Amino acid sequence: MKTYLLLTLTAWSFTFAACSQNQKPTSTNMNNTTMNKSDDEWKKQLTPEQFNVLRLKGTEKPFTGKFEDHWDSGTYVCAACGNELFNSNAKFDAGCGWPSFYEALDKTKVIEKQDFAHGMVRTEIVCAKCGGHLGHVFDDGPKPTGMRYCINSVSLDFKKKDSSSIKK
Ligand code: FE
Repeated sequence: MKTYLLLTLTAWSFTFAACSQNQKPTSTNMNNTTMNKSDDEWKKQLTPEQFNVLRLKGTEKPFTGKFEDHWDSGTYVCAACGNELFNSNAKFDAGCGWPSFYEALDKTKVIEKQDFAHGMVRTEIVCAKCGGHLGHVFDDGPKPTGMRYCINSVSLDFKKKDSSSIKK
């Protein structure tokens, strides 16, 4: 009886350990983000508008963002963590009121998430490094990809081709 109990307990322990290992968060199921700041830390770093969009998934008013009508050559980076996100070559005038790109700089730079908010089914785009909300992607963009990454200006900063950054 003792042996049976011991064997049962041993088997249970192994099963539990295996399950625990499977449930352990990995770098890909936690948004693949490498930053883990608290809301208070983000509030200290970001402006109230940036916090509202990047951390609370807000949306800036259309045609109000600093990059909606901005056509310099360079790289758009995450305003929260500096992750390089979009090249100016992929920016186009979608007429929707937000900066729009037909592709991300690299597929590893952003993460797509299903978004069911506001009674719609959309694909949210978040920064792969900090998890900050950037905007949404739609399949009504121009060639060559047919995609439209519709991004809040407030979630972005810009590095000109000569590497200098514009003032926020
Ligand atoms: Fe970021």
